[in-house]
Amino acid sequence: MGITLGKYIWHNGNHTEWENANIHIMSHVIHYGSSVFEGIRVYDTHLGPAVYRLPDHIKRLFDSAKIYRMDLSYSPEDIVQACVDTVKKNELGACYIRPIVFRGYGAFGVNPFDNPLETYIATWEWGAYLGTDALESGVDVCFSSWGRFAPNTLPALAKCGANYMNSQLIKMEAILNGYSEGIALNNQGYISEGSGENIFIIRNGIIYTPPLSASILPGLTRDSVIEIVKDLGYELRVEMIPRESILIADEAFFTGTAAEITPIRSVDKIAVGNGKRGKITTKIQEEFFSIFNGKRKVPEDWLTPIK
Ligand code: PMP
Repeated sequence: MGITLGKYIWHNGNHTEWENANIHIMSHVIHYGSSVFEGIRVYDTHLGPAVYRLPDHIKRLFDSAKIYRMDLSYSPEDIVQACVDTVKKNELGACYIRPIVFRGYGAFGVNPFDNPLETYIATWEWGAYLGTDALESGVDVCFSSWGRFAPNTLPALAKCGANYMNSQLIKMEAILNGYSEGIALNNQGYISEGSGENIFIIRNGIIYTPPLSASILPGLTRDSVIEIVKDLGYELRVEMIPRESILIADEAFFTGTAAEITPIRSVDKIAVGNGKRGKITTKIQEEFFSIFNGKRKVPEDWLTPIK
């Protein structure tokens, strides 16, 4: 696979070998997409390997579980500790952590209540998500012909496995048409987000990002960037963004745990600004990455050292 996998996966309180972390084909999740999960990064930092915004990710995991009436038998603190333990046991440095909670093997119909909840935490080493030079050169993207789900269909605030069928449609279409990523509109036609990233655009020095009501996942990188831009003194507007705004923006970028802060250099073959990473985007990237060398002061729970 070309990536280093953690040797052990945490399952319901114990570590099991990667090869043995298997489930039955008749598990509810396989048929009905009934999982909630997280994607978390461990960075090499001035404190040694440290998990970025771990309690916030686990809070979002519990929020997702609550929305889907999944009653975990663990506390958020248990799962935080289990994530740390799993990275430690696997002797990984910078890596990616994937906690997942799903409806397992029991009954076979849609009603999920008779299926046990299973909780797993996997880790692996993972590099740049949108390509190695994406952070510097930016990516070419398109508008997706697929929209994000309407608010009264699937809850966008929950990071649920089933939501990623929508993301897969967006991503496959983009890739097959030669783009790195697609931008989906919400059901009203406003900009929502990428298949796995939130979006920001900049025009005349003002920074815009869509609100939670635009059918977006409440991204933690989005949240970090909001803090950074406020701190840098930029005007930030969280509002519905018309599709064409990005075509006439000076700069645009994606945010996400995997994508970090990735500049968008073109949309549907129209250059964003001058088609290069913009000055403000570069500044925000610098501030973001300076969290991990201690230059930028952040709340203590934004970095959980692996010790
Ligand atoms: N939107 C979607 C659909 C995502 O899958 C992700 C990645 N989790 C994001 C936005 C960005 O969220 P975060 O910054 O918390 O990774």
